[in-house]
Amino acid sequence: MQAELISRPRDLPSVSRLLQICAAQGIAAEVASPAIREVLAHARQSLLDGGAVREQELVADVLREATALQAPWPSRVINATGVVLHTNLGRAVLSDRAREAMLEAAGYADLELDLTDGERGRRDEHVERLLVQVTGAEAATVVNNCAAALFFALSVLASGREVVISRGQAVEIGGGFRIPDVCVQSGAVLREVGTTNRTYPSDYETTCHDDTALLLRVHRSNFYLAGFTSDVSVGEMVAIGRGRSLPVLDDLGSGCLVPTEVFGLRHEPTVQESVQAGAGLTLFSGDKLLGGPQAGIMVGKRELIERLRRHPLARALRCDKVTLAALHATLLHYLRGEHMEQVPTLRMLRMSVDEGGARASKWAAQLGILGAEVRPAVSAVGGGSLPDAELPTRALVLDVTRLGLSAEECARRLRVASRPIMARVESDLLWLDPRTVQPEEDQVLLDVLRQGLSIS
Ligand SMILES: *Cc1c(COP(=O)(O)O)cnc(C)c1O
Repeated sequence: MQAELISRPRDLPSVSRLLQICAAQGIAAEVASPAIREVLAHARQSLLDGGAVREQELVADVLREATALQAPWPSRVINATGVVLHTNLGRAVLSDRAREAMLEAAGYADLELDLTDGERGRRDEHVERLLVQVTGAEAATVVNNCAAALFFALSVLASGREVVISRGQAVEIGGGFRIPDVCVQSGAVLREVGTTNRTYPSDYETTCHDDTALLLRVHRSNFYLAGFTSDVSVGEMVAIGRGRSLPVLDDLGSGCLVPTEVFGLRHEPTVQESVQAGAGLTLFSGDKLLGGPQAGIMVGKRELIERLRRHPLARALRCDKVTLAALHATLLHYLRGEHMEQVPTLRMLRMSVDEGGARASKWAAQLGILGAEVRPAVSAVGGGSLPDAELPTRALVLDVTRLGLSAEECARRLRVASRPIMARVESDLLWLDPRTVQPEEDQVLLDVLRQGLSIS
């Protein structure tokens, strides 16, 4: 033990020796070198600071760093939290067809080419055709995400001019995305009208003037106003804008194409309602309630969509082929009327309490341990959508203290397992919600649980 303790920089193991150790573990020199440099630099600093370094630990650090560097990423994770659109776990789960389409697009593909005449085509053409069909809008285009879509629309349609918005809608959506800040970046000037809780049509009417570019509505995705409130509908805003030739820009965020009542949730404004009410442009995310890839979808009047397309920012904000492929496949589910079964996000939202109960009971029976029971619980929509929505479910609840473990420690073990599981910890119990565990993941989930709980 004494010999391992290093106190002088010259006694540190050489780079070539560490390379040999890595090579013996099958780690290539190209991967090992940066890890070795980093660990040695850190060790030298420790020695200069008067500390000591253990050779064994130094070697372990090198191996760990090198292994981490070459580990594939991202890793697949089992989401047992019950949060359907879990932002940290990549929001929407894509359908099988969407995944296949992404693979198909990964090589050469007819992204901007019409195969029949060999002419150049637009990359958003095919997705536009489907969006027009499923939303009822005249035209559509797609950018990187909904935040980009709002920035894009304001930059093109309102730069240097005024945008009228209700005070109750100049909000922060999450992750530092604040409507007033986006407005400043786009060069538009925000004109807030009304009050936080009440805004009337007359507030818009008296504020519009020659320098007004558009009326903006932003859906309060992540909070609710309750009590003494009053909002102006998109239809009313359209009526106010019509006489003055001002379009309404409607940022819906979650972008639901189905009435959320079918999930037992409160009504979330749908894209079709916004289009029918006459919004000039309706913006929504691809990876929230639509259940597709990250994208900022813009549907509305043809003239406005064409102006967006002609702007140089269109090139800067465009989507890549893999995203467009996944979006196309997702929209096809809606066109065919098979979205409730095929789009995982909708399937998960629809899961009944009985279904959840049956699965959680099966898990409990197969684990066959004391302290495993099925209890009523609540899943969440997530992704900053429908914040107060309560989706009743049944969860497998594990009292791991009976196994001599704390729930936190157990959750950590599950996170670092070969197939990581994200579970919920509450009242020193481990909660696993079947709603967000994919049907084909049941067996792996049980295997990882047995390992994590050290039961065989
Ligand atoms: C979520 C949200 C956005 C941002 O959408 P991303 O696709 O995450 O960029 C913008 N506006 C509203 C109203 C939202 O709810």
